[in-house]
Amino acid sequence: MNFSWKKILLWSLPLLVVFFFIWQGLLTTNNSDVSQNISSSRMTYGRFLEYLNMGWVKKVDLYDSGHTAIVEALGPDLGNRVQKIRVELPASAPDLINKLKQSNVDFDAHPNRNNSAIWGLIGNLFFPLALVLLISFLFRRSNNTPGGPGQAMSFGKSKASVQMEAKTGVEFSDVAGVEEAKEEFQEVVTFLKKPEAFTAVGASIPKGVLLVGPPGTGKTLLAKAIAGEAGVPFFSISGSEFVEMFVGVGASRVRDLFKKAKENAPCIIFIDEIDAVGRQRGTGIGGGNDEREQTLNQLLTEMDGFEGNTGIIVIAATNRADILDAALLRPGRFDRQVTVDIPDFNGRLAILNVHSRNKLLNSQVSLKAIARRTPGFSGADLANLLNESAILAARERKDSITILEIDKAIDRVIAGMEGLPLVDGKTKRLIAYHEVGHAIVGTLLKHHDPVQKVTLIPRGQARGLTWFTPSEDQTLISRAQILARIVGALGGRAAEEVVFGEAEVTTGAGNDLQQVTSMARQMVTRFGMSDIGPISLENQSSDPFLGRSMASGLEYSDGVATNVDLQVESIVQNCYQQALQLIIKNRVIIDRLVDILIEKETIEGEEFRHIISEYTKLPQKELYISHC
Ligand code: ADP
Ligand code: MG
Ligand code: ZN
Repeated sequence: MNFSWKKILLWSLPLLVVFFFIWQGLLTTNNSDVSQNISSSRMTYGRFLEYLNMGWVKKVDLYDSGHTAIVEALGPDLGNRVQKIRVELPASAPDLINKLKQSNVDFDAHPNRNNSAIWGLIGNLFFPLALVLLISFLFRRSNNTPGGPGQAMSFGKSKASVQMEAKTGVEFSDVAGVEEAKEEFQEVVTFLKKPEAFTAVGASIPKGVLLVGPPGTGKTLLAKAIAGEAGVPFFSISGSEFVEMFVGVGASRVRDLFKKAKENAPCIIFIDEIDAVGRQRGTGIGGGNDEREQTLNQLLTEMDGFEGNTGIIVIAATNRADILDAALLRPGRFDRQVTVDIPDFNGRLAILNVHSRNKLLNSQVSLKAIARRTPGFSGADLANLLNESAILAARERKDSITILEIDKAIDRVIAGMEGLPLVDGKTKRLIAYHEVGHAIVGTLLKHHDPVQKVTLIPRGQARGLTWFTPSEDQTLISRAQILARIVGALGGRAAEEVVFGEAEVTTGAGNDLQQVTSMARQMVTRFGMSDIGPISLENQSSDPFLGRSMASGLEYSDGVATNVDLQVESIVQNCYQQALQLIIKNRVIIDRLVDILIEKETIEGEEFRHIISEYTKLPQKELYISHC
């Protein structure tokens, strides 16, 4: 694998420089032998002469061209043991040698060993040489790239962006809730393991499979699982990494990727976010993007370039198959599509099962209950949820994860971090009325999702929150349900108006109103749920490159447009009146609920319904899901 070699080489450059400086440092500190012979004790020159006169000096070694001496002396002062003592000699100590001779002292002069100079020379020659060699080596390698010469350094190489995993360690059992996709891929795995069975009868397996699905649904995981099950290497690159500033880089990366894959066949090539390169060509404002088109062309060429049975399978992932270039989807390329969707109840349960394997859950925690509370969660959301609750449990020093942590983690995943509780005061009271307004309207409407809890503890952007237990199927919603949601969303503002008067209503309802308007408009323009009739007035497959507002040019007359606005207005007005009526009629209950909410900060759905049922009859909700 030459890419890891290159990494090592690149890293060794700074290391070499560092070593060079350390080397120089060593040379300067190391240039005197005295330092090695050092004795800890020293004495003055005068003292030394005294010792000499007393005849206590036995041996003298001179260093540093006679500037330093290590003296071996023996005397009563020194505990009658021979000791080595260091003496700095004055620059002119003329008769010292004579004196030593006279006193019959054994003396010896040590010239400066000038090894250090030689070493310094070698070092100074060696390091620049090594540097030059290294750099030239790097250049030579990059010129070998298929991108050809003239490319600076290593841009053309796929750097670290091509990742190879010899063993992914992921198995099909790690991917849950996507049974159909797994079945599709079983065949691919068999092919990678035993290609003979297919080639014998002349069958060729698809070269490319396209995984389509929203983020976090396990596309990457699934691709890894295929490699893991088949026991083949896994090459991955992300489409956005192909698209670079420099023209031609992307194309050369594609070449490089396929070259490496061929050397390692059988294997899996995984191209994430293929829409980054694979969009329809020749689109977009200001013409096409040359770099992207070149890359895409290269990809198409490479996919045509290898035979069906070389054992390379290209798996690509995207969350928008509709914008891909048609050429990519032709037979012989990504002709198989596998959809991976947001999991349903059973899927979520299966995913929770996989991810709770290594977590210590309290025996009272029911995965079913969690799965029921999390419609719309992707696999990644669920994995994140369990991890968050494990972190919370660890923080509280519990020995297992309880339903409390799970609840907190769900809230956090949906609505963001919890803030500090509000201080008592008018604002808090107003927010309490607003939330209770949502909650009571939601509870009293037959078709509204049931309240799960009302809380005054801020979270994310919201200062208070009313949680509803969503029904399982969020894709098929009836007209009555949408209307109920609109009334419920207006309940907050309605309560503010009834309790505090028209002049006192706040900006707190801004978000609610946005949702209300969007729901009402869609009823009219998309779902044919207004007096205009069953007509779709919105172009759904708008051009992805122009941005929504530019693309969805009006395809109907001004008269119809006015009518749409009128319809939207009438829906919203009707719903608001309904909300006002409900608030006015139940004012007594609302006042009581607000008092409780301000005192307790949170009211659970069960308790909420219980209090209301003391005053009025609750509607029988068909979608009712018991609180977990
Ligand atoms: P995608 O590529 O579709 O955006 P990933 O495969 O990267 O999603 O998923 C991210 C993480 O979420 C995975 O590593 C895994 O932990 C978890 N996950 C997602 N889908 C599933 C699934 N179907 N089964 C188990 N875990 C999943
Ligand atoms: Mg992914
Ligand atoms: Zn609100």
